Amino acid sequence: MGIRKVVLAKPRGFCAGVVRAIEIVERALDLLPPPIYVFHEIVHNRYVVEDLKKRGVIFVEGIEEVPDGTACIFSAHGVSPHVRELARRKRLRLIDATCPLVTKVHLEAIRFAREGYSIILIGHPGHEEVEGTMGETPMHLVSSVEDVERLQVADPEKLVYLTQTTLSLDDVAQIVEALHRKYPSLQAPPKDDICYATQNRQIAVKELAKQVDLLLVIGSQNSSNTQRLREVSAAASVPAFLINDETEIDPKWLDGAEIVGVTAGASAPEEFVISVINYLRSMGATVVDELRAEDEHVHFAIPQELTQPPRIST
Ligand code: SF4
Repeated sequence: MGIRKVVLAKPRGFCAGVVRAIEIVERALDLLPPPIYVFHEIVHNRYVVEDLKKRGVIFVEGIEEVPDGTACIFSAHGVSPHVRELARRKRLRLIDATCPLVTKVHLEAIRFAREGYSIILIGHPGHEEVEGTMGETPMHLVSSVEDVERLQVADPEKLVYLTQTTLSLDDVAQIVEALHRKYPSLQAPPKDDICYATQNRQIAVKELAKQVDLLLVIGSQNSSNTQRLREVSAAASVPAFLINDETEIDPKWLDGAEIVGVTAGASAPEEFVISVINYLRSMGATVVDELRAEDEHVHFAIPQELTQPPRIST
């Protein structure tokens, strides 16, 4: 018996922060004189980045690569004050596509540091968001329970933890539990730092895992929230594979699977969900259902300076 049915997770794909970041770049292309530079991948998706490159956007990994006085967009993952200062010295025309939910974590870090707290950031070393947040003020980074065991803080009585926005809810719960055991006075952030989109996509995968034999997760390898979806499925004993698009599906994965789940990370365009569904139909699936776990109605406004009508070329 081959594939019979496809079940799509809902919500899946683009979150409000990604929609906003892409819209900011597109508006900048319409409104500002070229070239438009973007510091880091605007969002972690290979196709989004390649498409914008074809339309003239230049992506850089260092602010020093941006010529003085030109337009530069900060990616959705945010930047450190040091990067902002370098950009200011180069008199760049800055447009900030940092997700407001990342900015919220930066502001928490600044406030807690000002109030004299030691800060522990739960996150993945080397991720752009973590580098940006850690640039705000000195803080300790932990990414596992083992890191917690090794951790030494100056004042265990005045301690708060913050988190990267795109982590696994279950992993963070374990790390926070270990932190609480070691530091009973530890305080939590005022409101969850793991963003609504990351939480909702993980909740949807947990529901989906109860009824599928296999999960295909659409997104790029360097997308943190996408990787977490694969892990959530694997933790529920449902094999999961991360793919950029349908061409990366190995038909052997589908051997023995009757019901295939499909989801997409917060930076993966819906068109790739459609091409994966078409592929699975070609492999025998006759039914496509959607499993709705959560409703989302979040929208973030773009900066005022980009809300005017596009330039008319003559
Ligand atoms: S995944 Fe969350 S934090 Fe990241 S851009 Fe989307 S809404 Fe913002």
